[in-house]
Amino acid sequence: MDNVSKVIRGGYCVGCGVCPFVDSSLSVRMDGDGRYQAVELSGDHAPVASRVCPFANGRLNEDVLGRELYGGVEGVRHDDAVGWYLDTYAGYAVAGDWRERGSSGGLVNWTAAKLLETGRVDAVIHARACDEPGVMYSYQVSHTVDELASGAKSKYYPVELSRVLEYVRAHDERYAVVGIPCFIKAMRLLEREDPVVAGRVRYHLGLVCGHLKSSFFALAEAWESGIDPDRVDSVDFRYKIPGRASSDYGIRATGTDAEGRPVEVVRPTRELSVTNWGYGYFKYNACEYCDDVLAETADMTCGDAWLPDYVRDGKGTNVVVVRSPEIRDLFDEYAGEVHLEPVPVEVVARSQRSGLRHRREGLAYRLWLKDRAGQWRPVKRVQPSNALPRHRRRVYEGRIRLMDESFKAFREARRNGGGMPFFVEYMTPIVRAYKRADNPLWRRIGRKAKHIINTIMREK
Ligand SMILES: Cc1cc2nc3c(=O)[nH]c(=O)nc-3n(C[C@H](O)[C@H](O)[C@H](O)COP(=O)(O)OP(=O)(O)OC[C@H]3O[C@@H](n4cnc5c(N)ncnc54)[C@H](O)[C@@H]3O)c2cc1C
Ligand code: SF4
Ligand code: SF4
Repeated sequence: MDNVSKVIRGGYCVGCGVCPFVDSSLSVRMDGDGRYQAVELSGDHAPVASRVCPFANGRLNEDVLGRELYGGVEGVRHDDAVGWYLDTYAGYAVAGDWRERGSSGGLVNWTAAKLLETGRVDAVIHARACDEPGVMYSYQVSHTVDELASGAKSKYYPVELSRVLEYVRAHDERYAVVGIPCFIKAMRLLEREDPVVAGRVRYHLGLVCGHLKSSFFALAEAWESGIDPDRVDSVDFRYKIPGRASSDYGIRATGTDAEGRPVEVVRPTRELSVTNWGYGYFKYNACEYCDDVLAETADMTCGDAWLPDYVRDGKGTNVVVVRSPEIRDLFDEYAGEVHLEPVPVEVVARSQRSGLRHRREGLAYRLWLKDRAGQWRPVKRVQPSNALPRHRRRVYEGRIRLMDESFKAFREARRNGGGMPFFVEYMTPIVRAYKRADNPLWRRIGRKAKHIINTIMREK
């Protein structure tokens, strides 16, 4: 069996939509759990399909691709967490309202807009709101700054590339593509195979990625906020609440009530049960087998500066990794339009500490579990290992369970009419077991003892 079939049948597909673009024996469709997944229309696939798939091609990993792309750039360095890098910053866009509109500091869309305005590209391929019934967001091609601006903010929502790739094939234009790490890697693999796409896609702007959500996430957020999943129109996943820390953001959901009247709800995510990223509700299974947090094959990567020095500023701050000299030149040329504070690479890595731990230590354990079960799994840069404390193993097992059960609970909540109260009740014992693993008895006793000793010492 070829590797792309193993990816699909093993549940490792992230639905990027690149394999159907190179092989008509494959297609990509939304499955019953709200995830794009590749579908095999026949059993035989062209070898190129396995070469472009980010999970099937174990040889061309992010280290190899990154070295090919940036290894020869003067002044470039490599870091195990961040990949190749020229410069690392914390910052935000100063010009225009990119920061206000953006999820964090607005630097992704500011950069994309600058590439458009300066004529370096004709269009930007990114995710924005979609007219198709039942689909909130999709990959689209923006030719103007206004179109681009309408697509600001993170879409924690399934998207796929096959349709925009058809557009690229048919239109001789120069493009920048925005994407999460595995999508950028898929683009790089495709560009090695397809000189037309390679010649047209000039810039790759990466987003840091914790994991991708099925469409159930958007529906559940809206449902918990009072809008029935059958009547939701849109969810803004990153609504900035004035006066609050950047990490204390909300969602804004729109739809209609039972009488068909328009409704709009803003809710802080801390009031919702489905938004704890550590629980990984509605996560793609593929994300459990991913080791690229910082889009290591992108010309520039932006994420959230999840660090105490920056989260206080509710307007949002990016961490930025620059790999391409052309992006560095752009930042230099328009220095007055951005605020960029050079920070050590460790600071960028620290801002993504939890995601990196889950995709290094956690991934090693998940690979070990797959090997022990004798099941095929993608070849990763991380080696399989079970050499981690027992409670950490329970944590990673708990997260797999939370992910799997969240889909079952949501489907059942819709089927039986129990709504989000049913979902919460279903998930509660699973969350409790996970929390016990994450905070075992010996640690709780240790903390308590430390607290008592400190109190006694202070009183003395
Ligand atoms: C699924 C997902 C998971 C993420 N996980 C993390 C994380 O764990 N840690 C972290 O620090 N940051 C994470 N990010 C990135 C973060 O949420 C911001 O997107 C990033 O900091 C850029 O902010 P900005 O204000 O510069 O972007 P903006 O200026 O708002 O621009 C965002 C651009 O990205 C495009 N875009 C948004 N979502 C998608 C998508 N799904 N696919 C393709 N293009 C898209 C938009 O169309 C827009 O062009 C994640 C993003 C996504 C989409
Ligand atoms: S991850 Fe992308 S390339 Fe791989 S099987 Fe899925 S859709 Fe195809
Ligand atoms: S966690 Fe990895 S596999 Fe999942 S969406 Fe993000 S980059 Fe892709």
